[in-house]
Amino acid sequence: MRKKINIAIDGYSSCGKSTVAKAVAKALNYFYVDSGAMYRAITLFALQNNCFKKDNVFDQEALVRVLDHVIVSFKYNTESGEQEIYLNGQNVEKEIRSIQVSNHVSAVSAVKEVRQKLVRLQKRLAESKGVVMDGRDIGTVVMPDAELKLFMMADHAVRAKRRYDELKSNGLDVSLEEIEKNIASRDAIDTTREIDPLRQAEDAVVVDNSALTLEEQFQFVVGQAVKRIDGMD
Ligand code: C5P
Repeated sequence: MRKKINIAIDGYSSCGKSTVAKAVAKALNYFYVDSGAMYRAITLFALQNNCFKKDNVFDQEALVRVLDHVIVSFKYNTESGEQEIYLNGQNVEKEIRSIQVSNHVSAVSAVKEVRQKLVRLQKRLAESKGVVMDGRDIGTVVMPDAELKLFMMADHAVRAKRRYDELKSNGLDVSLEEIEKNIASRDAIDTTREIDPLRQAEDAVVVDNSALTLEEQFQFVVGQAVKRIDGMD
């Protein structure tokens, strides 16, 4: 049997990491882990449990106190052929994509206890290899030994337009301006936070996909993966 590798995909918000990651995982028959969905699920929990007070003041301690009771898991949906995220047993795949969650997620992901909990879980998911995981700290913290690491980027305007089209096609009512603001603010928090900020791993391959089609990105990443897999035989 062919040896399995782990693939880490990091990068800024909305630069198409998950679309490529999903396609590559399907082609290699690997397990796709959307680590952002896990941070979004905890953010949804925080919003539902009054951890954000008046004027959006974040009561971190309130969240940390109940964190042990927050169970985040994935379940395979046989109809869509995709992994979906569950929060305390409830499918929240749709709710976590709202602009409200997007506007609060970077604050929640900066909390040390939240990161410790999710990084532990993510490391466990990656133990048996054959994992494609995307996020912000995957190549640097979660899977530092991943055989293939990618750092994806794209022009700001391209990213905002892609996100806008994606949310619109899912029936969400958002403006391009709102999305642009959200992307800029998440990038700023994600790259400057104290714990595990977004940064390029030294051994990561950089992919600027501003002018690449999904097919081109897919071919490139699969090509890189096959090279690594063949090198292990
Ligand atoms: O990938 P996605 O855009 O859905 O991630 C949502 C947010 O979750 C990011 O903006 C970031 O604040 C946080 N995140 C993180 N570490 C990861 C994945 C996501 O801090 N590994």
